[in-house]
Amino acid sequence: MLTVRDLRVRYGRSVAALHGIDLDVPANGVLAVLGSNGAGKSTLLRALSGTLRMHRGTVAGGEVRYDGKVIHRLDPAAIVRLGVVGVPEGRQVFARMTVEENLRAGGIGARSAEQRTAAKHRVHELFPVLAERAKQRAGLLSGGEQQMLAIGRALMSGPKLLLLDEPSLGLAPQVVERIGRIIREIHAQGTAVVLVEQNAVMALRVADHAVVLEVGRVALAGTTAELAGSEDVQRLYLGGHAESQATAEAEAESADQQRASVRGLSRWAG
Ligand code: ATP
Repeated sequence: MLTVRDLRVRYGRSVAALHGIDLDVPANGVLAVLGSNGAGKSTLLRALSGTLRMHRGTVAGGEVRYDGKVIHRLDPAAIVRLGVVGVPEGRQVFARMTVEENLRAGGIGARSAEQRTAAKHRVHELFPVLAERAKQRAGLLSGGEQQMLAIGRALMSGPKLLLLDEPSLGLAPQVVERIGRIIREIHAQGTAVVLVEQNAVMALRVADHAVVLEVGRVALAGTTAELAGSEDVQRLYLGGHAESQATAEAEAESADQQRASVRGLSRWAG
């Protein structure tokens, strides 16, 4: 569905951000893009969505094809019309507009009123909270709800490929898990997804294929099962997280035990 070949991107004259990226997103696949800060993940999404120019970036070589068509020189609106829609990092909702108005804004590119109604129905089914809060200003929603609104707004134009930039950023673990389940559901309904994430645990759970970027290059690529089993990914992206999660769980368990023994003691004393 989407193929990226030898993609090279620069910012201005001096910064080379991507140095020849190759990757494929199969139709109805979920591709996770992992990597540490500055690896080039957002730059890659900007190249796919045609928004590089807004950041003074340019494609210096290579190509991006979607459904066989070269898209890396198209403007963002033309790329959206083809069915490739991005959700930028940082939950960029229109804070002063209501939830409903935000969704309506996302539906402007829809082909017909019927398509818009069907898309809204789908969004409300995926995110019931957006129907409940339809009349509320988007700026008053919680962080997780704003992320849901940002994804919902992108779904209003009926995308075939959704580009998500760090949807888990700054959200509590339970909300991240919920967003992960919703991304699986969006995929199950027939939309392909490119998921840029620093949260490798979540990304590897949600995606079927993954690439790891390192300073503008693909360092590792494969199925998520292959990557989750790779020593480098374990050490760099899962080890620390798994360890800290295990420590947190152990601490919570020991706090529970302490509370239980205090309760036991006070019952005994009483
Ligand atoms: P993060 O996880 O921190 O968002 P990232 O993997 O998304 O990082 P990018 O934001 O794509 O990385 O940055 C890749 C490289 O390009 C970095 O060296 C960064 O400093 C540089 N860069 C990004 N945006 C610009 C810009 N607008 N102008 C100049 N350099 C930029």
